[in-house]
Amino acid sequence: AAKAKGRDSFALFEPTLDTAARQRRETELQLREAMERGQLLLHYQPILALGTDTITGYEALVRWQHPERGLLYPSEFVAIAEASGLIVPLGEWIIHQALVESASWPEHLRIGINLSPTQVGSPRLVKTIAESLAISGIAPGRVDFEITEHVVLEGSEANRSTLYKLRELGASISLDDFGTGYSSLNYLRNFPFDRIKIDRDFVTGIVSSRESQAIVKTICRLADALGMATVAEGVEEAEQLEMLRRIGCSEAQGYLIGKPASEPLAAAQSRPDASGHTNHSAP
Ligand code: C2E
Ligand code: MG
Ligand code: MG
Ligand code: MG
Repeated sequence: AAKAKGRDSFALFEPTLDTAARQRRETELQLREAMERGQLLLHYQPILALGTDTITGYEALVRWQHPERGLLYPSEFVAIAEASGLIVPLGEWIIHQALVESASWPEHLRIGINLSPTQVGSPRLVKTIAESLAISGIAPGRVDFEITEHVVLEGSEANRSTLYKLRELGASISLDDFGTGYSSLNYLRNFPFDRIKIDRDFVTGIVSSRESQAIVKTICRLADALGMATVAEGVEEAEQLEMLRRIGCSEAQGYLIGKPASEPLAAAQSRPDASGHTNHSAP
């Protein structure tokens, strides 16, 4: 029976696998051209400082306006780009575009840029960033690079020195999605983080779950003691924002504050918020 079942599932599964592999390959080929054809774009999501109730910056999130498939999100192409090495040229485009666009924003606004493990591992990264900083003319202190725990895990010594070089350029570093990977407190001691972004998983349950609440509280205390700021990700409800204020989290991000949008400043200005204000952002 096992054998028959094995044969059956083989027969059923094989063509599917093949289709998936072909789709990945096709996406990869199209992605190579997407940059030249101007199909990639950035959306920006606001980050709210809880102390002053003002927008302090935006995170750049890449999108692909695919000619047949419509607007694609990172989940549909970033992993493919990462696996094929395409993430390096794609990442260079993202960095350049984000710095050039944000250079014309009001000067108090920060720009957050995600860096994948392969990007951080690329020997070109620091030079690319230095060049884009110079071309855009943006003050490096306004630039924040978001990396995940994978960057810390993979090739840690080289990656650590790359992060220090980015800091020497004047940029800050955030640890993204904290708590979901192989979090080790050792990272917080050995890597130069300015900010910890607390993953949405913990923020979602912050009102209803004592455990989530305890974890968020503890991360905020720890970050505070280490001289790092905290950003709560994925805030969708006013009660969550209230709880984060009470806990003493530094900043928050999520659909409640603002969804990622191509015109960040306009979107933030017209958005009514939970506390009754109509305008979080100064511009
Ligand atoms: P991330 O850096 O943790 O970004 C946050 C993700 O959560 C974004 O998804 C954002 O749209 C979404 N999000 C924000 N607020 C909420 C909320 O309140 N509720 C819910 N349900 N979701 C929320 P997105 O844009 O699909 O990006 C997914 C991931 O793809 C990012 O996670 C990041 O790891 C990666 N990524 C995005 N842009 C880039 C990029 O330019 N370069 C690289 N290397 N990776 C990127
Ligand atoms: Mg991020
Ligand atoms: Mg994140
Ligand atoms: Mg996340």
